[in-house]
Amino acid sequence: MIVVMKPHYTPQQLEGVVNAVKAHGLTAHITYGVETAIVAAVGEFHIPSLDPFEILDGVESVKRISQPYKLGSRQVHPENSVFPIDGFNVGGSDIAIIAGPCAVESKSQILETAHAVREAGANALRGGVFKPRTSPYSFQGLGEEGLEYLAEAREQTGMPIVVEIMSQTQLDLMLNYVDVFQVGARNMQNFNLLRMLGETRKTVLLKRGLSATIEELLMSAEYLLAGGNKQVILCERGIRTFETATRNTTDINAIPVLKNLTHLPVILDPSHATGQADYVTAIARAAVAAGADGLIVEVHPDPARAVSDGKQSLKPEKFAEMVKQVKAIAEVMGRRIAPIGKPVAVGW
Ligand code: PEP
Ligand code: MN
Repeated sequence: MIVVMKPHYTPQQLEGVVNAVKAHGLTAHITYGVETAIVAAVGEFHIPSLDPFEILDGVESVKRISQPYKLGSRQVHPENSVFPIDGFNVGGSDIAIIAGPCAVESKSQILETAHAVREAGANALRGGVFKPRTSPYSFQGLGEEGLEYLAEAREQTGMPIVVEIMSQTQLDLMLNYVDVFQVGARNMQNFNLLRMLGETRKTVLLKRGLSATIEELLMSAEYLLAGGNKQVILCERGIRTFETATRNTTDINAIPVLKNLTHLPVILDPSHATGQADYVTAIARAAVAAGADGLIVEVHPDPARAVSDGKQSLKPEKFAEMVKQVKAIAEVMGRRIAPIGKPVAVGW
């Protein structure tokens, strides 16, 4: 249920609504607008009539939330969520370009890549240190050593770092290093992990599961939002279909559909979506043209020798060309690639 306050409501009236929500065993989440405020009441909802809320002082209207996801819906929060990642804002007119290798392999590899992608216009660095590999015999990541190299890359380039978390046991260690937690496709429905990240106040980049529907992605985001973490970025990374010409099939529809259903920023990963470096730039352009708020792209200085996902990794010069093309599309869309600098927080 959402309770919309009248313009010029008083703090006491808002408090009265929040108390009534709590008295029904629900949790109140407030979104402040310019003149009004929306109180979303979420929890197990067994209220037969909305009358007890409609008669409260300062209340303009009361509606049921039609979707199963609540806090992520546009009904609860009509405006786009815009929030700072260390260095720039995401979700507003700026486009995030997160780039780096699939996995951190060595100090020299991540430092070289970080400088190259920064030079080309990236505003955040990605790099996995705990890798979700299909085979237990494949390289599993450098762990804390990799986090140290990433921290040094951040120090040298000023770019925030985005790193995948696979398990609750990695949280304490990673909190000391990362700016954005990536939740990978394979963990999109790891609800315990999501609940735990919902309690942190670090940005979470939530990737769509291999066979997850858009609604399932939004329900997973709801776990993060319900815990009070409002800094959630959704990521389309291709889904499994009958098509075998590419690693996955880019669901480009997901971009406008998600932008319509949710206020959360939406980005696209053209690397995992296609699985082949030759197709990455075209799909990166398409994503920004479709309204994506950013991209996450795999870049490696020597893809042929990469320990993971070399086939889909761009060489730095190809990445620089991709950024140039994406920049042109962004301009057509009235947007720009976020420069690194002190962000101005606009709020949730
Ligand atoms: C990755 O980003 O390297 C990764 C493993 O992605 P996904 O979870 O989308 O497969
Ligand atoms: Mn990868």
